[in-house]
Amino acid sequence: MTESERRNVELRCAFCGKRNRLDMTRAADRPRCGECEKPFLLDRPVKVASEDLQTVVAGADVPVLVDFYADWCGPCKVMAPVLDELAAERIGSVLVAKLDTDRSCSACTGRAARLTLRRACRRRPRQPGLP
Ligand SMILES: [Zn+2]
Repeated sequence: MTESERRNVELRCAFCGKRNRLDMTRAADRPRCGECEKPFLLDRPVKVASEDLQTVVAGADVPVLVDFYADWCGPCKVMAPVLDELAAERIGSVLVAKLDTDRSCSACTGRAARLTLRRACRRRPRQPGLP
């Protein structure tokens, strides 16, 4: 498998905290944690902690869309079903992550957010007629 065909992501298990390298080409098969064997549900946004964000984004072979949300935020609530749908529709080709900004404030600003955008832009195929 060449580098361009590889589609791995590294995510921390929500149950046991173990980091797992997951093959996104098999994301729909609900890959299991190597430690506790609980499934990763990649057909919906995956919660990512602030301290893991950079590792997740930099280590992903697929574009990562991060929703910086807050439970009390109206527009976030409006967007949530859209992101759920996107994650289900693009399973295996995009990792949809979400970060609770009330719990992880350091990641909502600056470097992590810019890194996320830059990576997403670099991975996006060029469309005819657009610069
Ligand atoms: Zn686990």
